[in-house]
Amino acid sequence: MEKIKKRYDELVALIKKYNYYYYTLDKPLVDDATYDGLMKELISIEEQYPDIVREDSPTKTVGAVIQTSFNQVRHDPPMLSLNNAMDEADMNDFHQRCGKLLGNFAIEYCAELKYDGLAVELVYENGLYIQGSTRGDGEVGEDVSENIATIKKVPARLKGNFPEYISVRGEVIMRHGEFERLNEHRRQNDEPEFANPRNAAAGSLRQLDPAITAERELDIVLYGIGKMEPAGRVQTQSQLYELFNELGLPAPHYYMVGSLHDIKKFYTYWMENRYTLDFDIDGVVVKVNRIDVRDTMGSTSKAPRWAIAWKFPAREAITVLKSVDYQVGRTGLITPVANLEPINIGGVIVKRATLHNFQEVKRLNIKIGDTVKVIRAGDVIPKVVEVLTDKSPNDAKEIVAPTTCPSCHTELMKEDIYIRCINPSCPAKEYETLCFFVSKDGMDIEYVGPELLKRLYEQKKIKTIADIYALTRDDLLQVERMGDKIVDKIIDSINQRREVSLSQFLRALGIRNVGDHIAKVIARHIRSLNKLRELSPQELMQIPEIGPGVAQSVYDFFRDEESLKIIKKMLSNGVVVKEEVVEEAFENPFKGQTVVFTGTLKSMSRQEAESLIESLGGKASSSVSKKTHFVVAGTEAGSKLEKAQTLAVRILSEEEFLKMVGRE
Ligand code: NAD
Repeated sequence: MEKIKKRYDELVALIKKYNYYYYTLDKPLVDDATYDGLMKELISIEEQYPDIVREDSPTKTVGAVIQTSFNQVRHDPPMLSLNNAMDEADMNDFHQRCGKLLGNFAIEYCAELKYDGLAVELVYENGLYIQGSTRGDGEVGEDVSENIATIKKVPARLKGNFPEYISVRGEVIMRHGEFERLNEHRRQNDEPEFANPRNAAAGSLRQLDPAITAERELDIVLYGIGKMEPAGRVQTQSQLYELFNELGLPAPHYYMVGSLHDIKKFYTYWMENRYTLDFDIDGVVVKVNRIDVRDTMGSTSKAPRWAIAWKFPAREAITVLKSVDYQVGRTGLITPVANLEPINIGGVIVKRATLHNFQEVKRLNIKIGDTVKVIRAGDVIPKVVEVLTDKSPNDAKEIVAPTTCPSCHTELMKEDIYIRCINPSCPAKEYETLCFFVSKDGMDIEYVGPELLKRLYEQKKIKTIADIYALTRDDLLQVERMGDKIVDKIIDSINQRREVSLSQFLRALGIRNVGDHIAKVIARHIRSLNKLRELSPQELMQIPEIGPGVAQSVYDFFRDEESLKIIKKMLSNGVVVKEEVVEEAFENPFKGQTVVFTGTLKSMSRQEAESLIESLGGKASSSVSKKTHFVVAGTEAGSKLEKAQTLAVRILSEEEFLKMVGRE
């Protein structure tokens, strides 16, 4: 028992310390997964030994007591946190608990996104904004009225039939674009960067000078209510959101769900698609919809019993940098790559992470042996974002930029912040060029991947991209563990890409500054490879969207002997580069218009839909702005739809879109 009590006190002290760093200083000491693990341990001790539970336990409190220069604001009723479900079993427990309490399992829930920002309260009296505050410790927060007033979506005056008094609660967030912009600005001014948009939002809102907050674009979503007078106007969460819409308050997207199955579908969808949003979410929130039912269920001192947050698996973790490798890219660029003490991030073991370039190494002030924070977001390569300096060992070793290429040992060139290998026949560059050529962004040769290329390259069966088209069945059969069937598939997939459009050919060549879009623009205007080879930089610059950088790299590419030799060999190995077909678009509603797709279309893939728009003389774009003419919304459309609504861009359903392109 003595031991348990000791551990218990230890956990309370540790969690309190972490709370202080996280909530008050906006500078977490550990990652959320570690924190949540300690909290789980504390809860489990408290459940088993209720006699030792302390009054000041972090399981009974919200956030952290604030110690700042802001005036204090008392929250009435207190602003609570949420209980967490870490997995399906926890979620099921919640559903069962609600069902048992109510004697009925047919419960309607409001399912929402869990916005990862900073909780705030806004107060309106007689329709006028009078106060804005942070959550603080739930009972008392900081008065940040002027700062909150700088957020565009916070109305100074409510619309519609507003109540005499209303206090609403929500989350202040920072969108990714603004986060990048702010950090870029801080980098240029040698100021420390924010580790994530949550910290940036919190740091920006808690500025003593509201002018600084105003310079940073914050956003807000409101998802709850403190008090309303006269009371009794809304009976459900969904009605509350209708009221918010009427009053001009920004409400979240929500879905009504009734079963564990639906909750799970909602959760899984957003876990997989969270990276399509331009803001961070760290889970979903499920709330019992009816307010009278909630009153029956009540709350603990920390969280309501009628709601639960189902958290996504962690995206970041803390580990140790063991060594650094230098990777050579297709253009010869040297990227430092961190070898890490293997760590589980959201179910995936991460051993390596990018350090981008040597300026980044300097900026992070990272050394071998340091404890680092690593982020893994979607399919993006994990990256090291922060060094926990107070954990640096005394014998941490400097990371020294190489002076010779790790692959071919040629002396490296320094170009601005980059280091490059300029040896044209560097094996690493040759291999990376092959990999890019066959990839989805290049020629998209389905059955030829990096592993196969590595073996073929090592066995000297291929050296350049032209050699891919000369591969024979025998060459492939000599590769270890390669059977007849797979060889057929490989040969087939290469043959399918023998005849290609000029635009695809251009993007696959990997010419500097020429990506998919620019390749299409050039191909549409010039149409044939032979003609393209003849053009001067000035002539290339006559093409819309083509600036001097692109023009020069295209020109240089077609003057380079080695490139010309490879193209010639490709053509003699049976590659046919077709003239780009550009049919003058007939009159149609999309000609000359910019269209953005969001969500999933049932009838075609996103890529097909975008090509269709381009073939109709329109432009497919990936982000919504004032210049967008149409947004086509498939199922489960995300933030782009929201943005289109705010910018009053015309929104089309898939059915309307199909009708307009004549494909109903
Ligand atoms: P929380 O973030 O887990 O969940 C509650 C909060 O979610 C609410 O207060 C509200 O602000 C927010 N929220 C977002 N969308 C919402 C919606 N649609 N409806 C209702 N609420 C919504 O709780 P918390 O108390 O703010 O923080 C606890 C969590 O913070 C921990 O689980 C941990 O992950 C993290 N934390 C980390 C450290 C650390 O050192 N790394 C320290 C303290 C807390």
